[in-house]
Amino acid sequence: MLKLKEGLKEGGRVVAGGWLASKRVQGDIAFLVLFESGKELQVTIKGDNKRLLEKAEKIREHSSLIVEGTIHLTEKAPRGYEIYPTKIRIVSPAKKIPPFHVYGGNLPSIDKRLDIRAVDLRRVKAMAIFKLRHLLLKSCREFLSKRGFIEVQTSKIISSATEGGAALFPIMYYDKEAFLAQSPQLYKEQLIMAFEKVFEIGPIFRAEPFRTLRHLSEAFSLDVEQAFVDYREIMDLLEELVKYVLTEIANEGKEELKDLRYELEIPEGPIPRITYDQAIEILQGKGIEVNWGDDLGTKELEVLGSEMNGYYFITDWPLSLKPFYIMPKGRLSESFDLMYKDLELSSGGTRIHRKSLLVKRLKEQGLKPKGFDYHLRVFDYGMPPHAGFGLGIDRFMMVITGVNNIREVVLYPRDVRRLIP
Ligand code: ATP
Ligand code: MG
Repeated sequence: MLKLKEGLKEGGRVVAGGWLASKRVQGDIAFLVLFESGKELQVTIKGDNKRLLEKAEKIREHSSLIVEGTIHLTEKAPRGYEIYPTKIRIVSPAKKIPPFHVYGGNLPSIDKRLDIRAVDLRRVKAMAIFKLRHLLLKSCREFLSKRGFIEVQTSKIISSATEGGAALFPIMYYDKEAFLAQSPQLYKEQLIMAFEKVFEIGPIFRAEPFRTLRHLSEAFSLDVEQAFVDYREIMDLLEELVKYVLTEIANEGKEELKDLRYELEIPEGPIPRITYDQAIEILQGKGIEVNWGDDLGTKELEVLGSEMNGYYFITDWPLSLKPFYIMPKGRLSESFDLMYKDLELSSGGTRIHRKSLLVKRLKEQGLKPKGFDYHLRVFDYGMPPHAGFGLGIDRFMMVITGVNNIREVVLYPRDVRRLIP
């Protein structure tokens, strides 16, 4: 909270509320740094104010304060001004000291920090991560809105699997069993019938008991779908989106990137595209035992990632490795993954828009078309050709911030072991 009663001018009266990040008492002068609205605000107590100096000595870091005083303009303070206080109220004293420092230093395990996540988020680096996350989402919305996409919200409570498989969380829905949606895939495909270009930013739920640094049970995804385009055009769109948001973040997130001591990498020129077949050749050339038709696992992606470096697409995957709704292309498919080194960021492709082919593919993947009645029936009403992708927001955040654990970029991560806070 900050109230500049007479604007920002020398001697102007000010009231500020914030929490104490650091305290330095040097002889007869004390510097308190408050965080107000996520930014540093310096309060300087001078020696002639004995009463406030004594009070300042007793305040624990993290306590919430309301400071009244006057403005002193100075280039030495973080905001270009400091407050000379006349009154300091400790509105909520900190009773405990967290096991980490706001400005860095040694960090305890992420588990210890997540137990008091709201306090952990007061660390400068954590704040920077979530400000960048805000920027990322804002610029995704900007980019897609400018291109004529509309943002949609689809239900996260569903009656059956979107993509088959057992990776669903069952829930009780009144007297019936229902599930948490693993992706908005089928809904976004339906919505292009009316809207042509849609996107959704929302949670996806995966009951895959992974214990990795890149999987969560609840992740965030940017889902995009567009009518009358194929996978190549949608790949172009994704490439432009990636470059746009990275450029925006580099410009608007300078301070935060500096806090993270991280150099953002913006791909220059086109993002390389290799086919799955080429990826297999590269891997075999490196002596990796991998056969055509195998999925690319951790080891394969590590080798490929060090070979390709940076961002790249892997296109034209074997049909058998992709979900039923992906358009076949002989034994291949019109599909792609966007990678950053060994990390998968996005999967996308051309979708099947002919009902008979969709039914055939469902059966080939051992799924019962009956269970997809609610979806298949709209295909009788002139479903246009379409394509799209899902981009993992948390995964993209890992690349943007350079952290290696996905839990660092999610406020309240959910994994096999963690359901609180
Ligand atoms: P992976 O092979 O890495 O497990 P996936 O191919 O199963 O991912 P998709 O179904 O293609 O994932 O989902 C689209 C995107 O959503 C992925 O590229 C990834 O960025 C993100 N994503 C998927 N599952 C998770 C998860 N469990 N945790 C975090 N992000 C995820
Ligand atoms: Mg994928």
